[in-house]
Amino acid sequence: MNTDYLIIGSGAVGMAFADTLLDESDAHITIVDRHATPGGHWNDAYPFVALHQPSAFYGVNSTELGTRRKDESGPNRGMYELAGGAEIITYYDKVMQHKFLPSGRVSYFPTSNYAGDGRIVSLLSGAQTAVTARKKVVDATWFSPNVPSTHTHNFTVADGVRVIAPNGLPQLWLQREGWPVPRKFCILGAGKTAMDAAVWLLRNGAAPDSIQWVMPRDSWLVNRLQTQPGLEFFNHSIGGEADKLGAFAEARSVEEVFLKLESLGQMLRIDRSHSPTMFHYATISTGEVDLLRKIQHVIRKGRVQTIASDAMVMDQGTVAMEPGTLYVDCTASAISHRICEPVFREGRIQIQLLRAPLVALSAALTAYVEVHGTDDAHKNQLCVPVPFPADLAGYVPATQVSMMNQFRWSQDKALRQWVSNSRLDGFGKMVAELDKADAERQAVLARLRTNAFAAMANMPNLMASAV
Ligand SMILES: Cc1cc2nc3c(=O)[nH]c(=O)nc-3n(C[C@H](O)[C@H](O)[C@H](O)COP(=O)(O)OP(=O)(O)OC[C@H]3O[C@@H](n4cnc5c(N)ncnc54)[C@H](O)[C@@H]3O)c2cc1C
Repeated sequence: MNTDYLIIGSGAVGMAFADTLLDESDAHITIVDRHATPGGHWNDAYPFVALHQPSAFYGVNSTELGTRRKDESGPNRGMYELAGGAEIITYYDKVMQHKFLPSGRVSYFPTSNYAGDGRIVSLLSGAQTAVTARKKVVDATWFSPNVPSTHTHNFTVADGVRVIAPNGLPQLWLQREGWPVPRKFCILGAGKTAMDAAVWLLRNGAAPDSIQWVMPRDSWLVNRLQTQPGLEFFNHSIGGEADKLGAFAEARSVEEVFLKLESLGQMLRIDRSHSPTMFHYATISTGEVDLLRKIQHVIRKGRVQTIASDAMVMDQGTVAMEPGTLYVDCTASAISHRICEPVFREGRIQIQLLRAPLVALSAALTAYVEVHGTDDAHKNQLCVPVPFPADLAGYVPATQVSMMNQFRWSQDKALRQWVSNSRLDGFGKMVAELDKADAERQAVLARLRTNAFAAMANMPNLMASAV
């Protein structure tokens, strides 16, 4: 069969790209994915997973996710709703069934593997379909995260020791013969999944002293207050961005940037007595951090190598463990660090991050530029891939490249308008529509612009200080 664009992956990235391509062109699109329904890794997520960021600016550009209500209870109280995994999967399925397929311009191959060279192989029948892409093959798998239920842990486990993915926690009521109700839990891993598992245990009645937490390293976390889209949060979102750039402008080292942001309430860490070495834009509320601080049994001896019935052998020593402890494996690394490539090449698009950490906006904007850009050189100028931070120092180039992309977009009138109208941008529309007579908020915007120039000027010094 022939198509204009062959998209590999119907996760958040493939869906956001296809949605904008449909709206901005009359192209025919073919989408292939191994999963049976769109939404990518959200199909495999633990039942209590939720977005880090408000639903308001996640998903595809054309279709609102959620209803812009605020949570009235729980640790996210007072802030905009965060869609859970089931809601996200239903949302993407509706986008496929109600928009993509009825358009008559989308062929969808679920439960199918893309085997390269235009070959699609059904995982159910083995049937092969050869697809010729008249324009481009689009790789929407670059950012695909590793998740607990599908990854293989790299430590050994003795017979009789119970290790489950967080997906198994809500099923603990389903007791298997010989497996008593666990009295002790040990969470393995220090990322957002581990935090979600710990919050779930605490909110569901596990006593804080029944939980041990293996934390190979500490993370800086974004305070969710900075990510709220409403005008009522203007001083936290836009004011917060101005303060953040002020910190980039004034700091003499990367560590100082994070400490300044912590003093401004923008960055959080669970244990203030430890210096974080990791930053992956994980976003959390202060309510969740307060809960997590209740866990006192934190094991900082590096990674787990072996779990025996009564001990854990770790990189930096052995820790005695109570027999019967339930281990919750949160060691899947959601991020794979890859060297950036050009987004646009002859016959191919490799979707990458264009504004950290907004994956969906980046994919939708790539589609807009594909349709309206003049040639691959021009398109690549507008879409410089943002290197995802592998360590704290990586926050500087990720911010710098994001800002430079944003500046280039602002120089192209049509693209600027598209970005400021895009629901995936989060704040663009609010800023574009800000009342000119609102002197207080206009002053915040002016501070943002001044600090942006000063931050850009200081970034080479920050990068040099990190070498
Ligand atoms: C728990 C969690 C919470 C997150 N929260 C947020 C958030 O709030 N905001 C945010 O911006 N990001 C968040 N992220 C980051 C996340 O990476 C992105 O939001 C996004 O879901 C990634 O989508 P993707 O399309 O790149 O990858 P995936 O969802 O993994 O989709 C890629 C798809 O490609 C398919 N595929 C791969 N290879 C082939 C092949 N050869 N043939 C056929 N199909 C193939 C896979 O089956 C998969 O369905 C979160 C991540 C996790 C793990």
